[in-house]
Amino acid sequence: MQDKAPITVTSPLLPQLDDLTCMLKEIWASKWITNNGQFHQQFEKALCEYLKVPYISLFTNGTIPLLTALQALCVRGEVITTPYSFVATTHSIWWNGLKPVFVDIDPETCNIDPDKIEAAITPQTTAILPVHCYGQPCDNQRIQHIADKYGLKVIYDAAHAFGVEINGESILNWGDLSTLSFHATKVFNTIEGGALIMHDEATKKRIDYLKNFGFESETEVVAPGINGKLDEIRSVYGLLNLKQVDHAIQQRQHVAQRYTEVLSKIPGIRILPTIQGVRHNYSYYPIFINPEDYGATRDQLYTALRQRNILSRKYFFPLISTFSTYRGLPSASPSNLPNATLIANQVICLPMHHALTSDEIDNILDIVTNKPF
Ligand SMILES: *Cc1c(COP(=O)(O)O)cnc(C)c1O
Repeated sequence: MQDKAPITVTSPLLPQLDDLTCMLKEIWASKWITNNGQFHQQFEKALCEYLKVPYISLFTNGTIPLLTALQALCVRGEVITTPYSFVATTHSIWWNGLKPVFVDIDPETCNIDPDKIEAAITPQTTAILPVHCYGQPCDNQRIQHIADKYGLKVIYDAAHAFGVEINGESILNWGDLSTLSFHATKVFNTIEGGALIMHDEATKKRIDYLKNFGFESETEVVAPGINGKLDEIRSVYGLLNLKQVDHAIQQRQHVAQRYTEVLSKIPGIRILPTIQGVRHNYSYYPIFINPEDYGATRDQLYTALRQRNILSRKYFFPLISTFSTYRGLPSASPSNLPNATLIANQVICLPMHHALTSDEIDNILDIVTNKPF
């Protein structure tokens, strides 16, 4: 088995090499390779249309937008967030010199539990940083209601939520700002890349300054900015990938349907629900193992898959709150985060990407169903 290429949890959507080469020739001819070039501008416009958002600012990855969002909104003091995410979510709070306050998740959605947010608010709280985990929409209505009541900013880490809509409207329009990641492992990638989504032109202007050292003109620096710019090469790569992302999402949907048909009938395995009216993006396929009912633990299944060269991943284990930087925080104690702790110990993300073959899906389902270990 080990001589075959492994089945990885994800596989990047790549543009046709000939198409890319053709575009690269244009960039070479123009000799304009970064700093808001023509393809960067085209890519922003195309993304606004595809994502149904009014304004977007492209970035070189998905972490700098998180850092910049907190800067742009002048967030101070404490920020309420989820421990059940990729570590960059909390790191962005820390890098701004702010204090992360962890709130437990709702085990049904894996998103921050709105019922538990108010108890975590103190006079120092200025913002909430939720994550649409696996692209499942947060309870925006309740989160925004709390934010309005206490005068808090809301920044959504929407790294998993590319293209997710509810009744035809993008969830990326929620909150004060939303961030995206176009990393190679995501539904839509520019190798490395990311974006911030905002509601108005003034905010876009400010964020465009912030991602370019604060330069307003050749000689005017209006803010302590950073360098977060996306270059022309990755902009054309993104333009080409944008044309095929719908098809890739359809292929992912097909994989998800195959998984769900079988896995929804297996005792001890829980899967995420398909929500009426939501255009899902099938960014991940997490399953949650209850060892008593399933008859094996999450780690037994993980290891068995690995031995057969199927590289599933335990997203998100361990919890961010258990890492050395954060574990001393009062809100990081497992007794404050029982649901996140449980879910982190139950989860496996099965391989999920546009290029999974029927044989590969059958192979994975056979192991999960028949437990040959
Ligand atoms: C991928 C990811 C990020 C970071 O994005 P990069 O592009 O890798 O910097 C942030 N938050 C979440 C939830 C992610 O999954």
